Amino acid sequence: MTSGPLFSAGRLPLNGLGQIEYRLARDSIVREHRRGRLSRLDICDAQPELLRVARHLGRPTQETCPICGDEPLVHVYFAFGPRLPASGRALETERELRALARARQDVAFYVVEVCTGCNWNHLVRMFNGSGALKRPRA
Ligand SMILES: [Zn+2]
Repeated sequence: MTSGPLFSAGRLPLNGLGQIEYRLARDSIVREHRRGRLSRLDICDAQPELLRVARHLGRPTQETCPICGDEPLVHVYFAFGPRLPASGRALETERELRALARARQDVAFYVVEVCTGCNWNHLVRMFNGSGALKRPRA
């Protein structure tokens, strides 16, 4: 695997920004779509691998997809860091996340929202290992 992250973070760099920035970037893409400036082809670009992971490991949310309005969004957790795949490792459970966070200080975690109906995807937030351990639920 030599590709970059599987998911879309808009035009933002994948580090150094917080949840609010990702949310603003996401909302601005949704707005541009509703205004007709971005098509579904432009923004609903989840790769097959991300969709596969979302179907198998995605955690259901209460939120409906902002693009198709048909499907509930799922959240997928990825870990990035040295000696992990370049496209990140998808995490199956909270337990796996916490174990990795405890064992490795150099791993960053990304939460990605995915719609398996229309292929919308966007980064929701990222946090480092100590952030993962502080959270009651990540
Ligand atoms: Zn959708």
